Amino acid sequence: MDFDLSEPEQELAALCRDFAQREIAPVAAAAWEENRCPTEILEKMGKLGLLGLLVPPEWGGIGMTTVGFVAAMEALGVADQSVASAWQAHSTIGSLPLLLFGTDEQKERWLRPLAEGTALGAFGLTEPDAGSDARGIATRAVCRDGGWVVNGRKAFISNAGTDMSFGVTLLARTGEDDRGAPQYGSFVVERGTDGFTMGPKMKGIGWHGLDTRELYFDDVWVPDDHLVGDPDLGLGQFLKTLEVGRISIAALSISLTQAVLDLALGYAKERRQFGRAIADFQAIQFKLADIATELEAARWLTYRAAALRDAQRPFMKEAAMAKLKASRTAMWAASEAVQIHGGIGYMLETPVARFFCDAKVLEIGEGTNEIQHLVIARALGC
Ligand SMILES: Cc1cc2nc3c(=O)[nH]c(=O)nc-3n(C[C@H](O)[C@H](O)[C@H](O)COP(=O)(O)OP(=O)(O)OC[C@H]3O[C@@H](n4cnc5c(N)ncnc54)[C@H](O)[C@@H]3O)c2cc1C
Repeated sequence: MDFDLSEPEQELAALCRDFAQREIAPVAAAAWEENRCPTEILEKMGKLGLLGLLVPPEWGGIGMTTVGFVAAMEALGVADQSVASAWQAHSTIGSLPLLLFGTDEQKERWLRPLAEGTALGAFGLTEPDAGSDARGIATRAVCRDGGWVVNGRKAFISNAGTDMSFGVTLLARTGEDDRGAPQYGSFVVERGTDGFTMGPKMKGIGWHGLDTRELYFDDVWVPDDHLVGDPDLGLGQFLKTLEVGRISIAALSISLTQAVLDLALGYAKERRQFGRAIADFQAIQFKLADIATELEAARWLTYRAAALRDAQRPFMKEAAMAKLKASRTAMWAASEAVQIHGGIGYMLETPVARFFCDAKVLEIGEGTNEIQHLVIARALGC
């Protein structure tokens, strides 16, 4: 199997590496401290075409492969996980429901600005009482007056509350089938729509630059043309979108692991104890060798899932495996890298400590790792 990047993929990765080092890395620490989403960076990324990577040119994007997207993420995520997390949420779950299930009119109206980088996309699935159990959502959309009235509440929604946010594509219950099983539809609710409000930005252990909030919908009326896809098959549409999101979280995870490996290796060569660099101690060398080996395994699972998507082959199980392996590796590697730094690694002034904080959410977002186990076990026939 050949995972060598094509020329356009290599050019994209080089562009992202350059942008990350020039525009993101110098301001990453300050944005983390300020606890705000640095939309000025995302706007610049938009001007370079990076906010429409997975969207075809006919809708304002650049139609990059999923493999290219992973390579871009590797380049961006080593500089800062907050910007990379906002970018990936926008590029996958924030944009893909419209690309995959929207009408041409909806793509022109909402997807094009997302792909051209003048707006940020958000995906509203999780609720206070329904996270892993997506079927358990309580938000309802009722057909009325040539449109839909939405009532409910969404939790932990990323990218909906920034100065670049366009609104949210959300999932709501639309009714029940003949056997009483709930049906779901997805709807665009734009910012400024009557009855749509939101809570303050939440503060996480990591990802301080990601804007994540609760969203509230009180008798929000949207016209019929805000329904995205089938009024009864919205849950399947959302779950399909999440499959790509999992490749994206896996890519974010390998970028974090690469970042902490680079930091730990650099520090181990410089830090001297007992008269020699700590990199001379075999205990430290073995930690570094283990991180590098696990990273390589996670990397190939991630590129494999991406390549399957590009080949239009099923990739649900592989995306779950990649997300499971890569996020676990990132959490463990970040801890080992802090250990190699000793006391200074514990201090939030150091990049390795920030990466450690950023790692935990990778095991939770876009389906917890327990849910990835369930997806894989089901694919095995359990
Ligand atoms: C920073 C951040 C950003 C986010 N952004 C978004 C977003 O943009 N849009 C969005 O819709 N959501 C978003 N989320 C929500 C995220 O997807 C959910 O937090 C996640 O799916 C888990 O849901 P929960 O938090 O309700 O946990 P729960 O589902 O309550 O799970 C709690 C624990 O129980 C375990 N568990 C649950 N069910 C099972 C089971 N059947 N078997 C075994 N274990 C189980 C879980 O794995 C977990 O360990 C975000 C979350 C965070 C932290």
